[in-house]
Amino acid sequence: MVNLDENLIIIGFDEQLLMDTLSFLSSTFYTILDELTLPPPPNIYPKDWDKISQKYKEQVNWQCEAIDCKHRDLSSLQLRKYLHCHHIDMKKNNTRNYNLKALCILCHAKEPNHAHLKNTPNYSEYKSLINS
Ligand SMILES: [Zn+2]
Ligand SMILES: [Zn+2]
Repeated sequence: MVNLDENLIIIGFDEQLLMDTLSFLSSTFYTILDELTLPPPPNIYPKDWDKISQKYKEQVNWQCEAIDCKHRDLSSLQLRKYLHCHHIDMKKNNTRNYNLKALCILCHAKEPNHAHLKNTPNYSEYKSLINS
């Protein structure tokens, strides 16, 4: 006659291994689920970015929104091209109003990871324009 209790002992039951396996499976499951439901959007400008940024700059009357900006008004036609539309969260495809900030090129260059703007011709052009 087979003794069930004895068989169970022989087969063994490693609780820790079972828990490890379950947690591995569930984390794998959630990783896959994340990838399926939340594909990371590519960090590129949307097709209609020109229109969106133009509209946003009109909304703020071509004013630089940096609090400490010394020359906030870029509404004259000559200055408009030096007003940029910055993405607060750095994601170029997040074009919700709350994520946009109009910044003159001088203020824009002060944002993290934007120092390269200081090497553009527009940067020095604008600097000499407002200092003249
Ligand atoms: Zn920016
Ligand atoms: Zn500014």
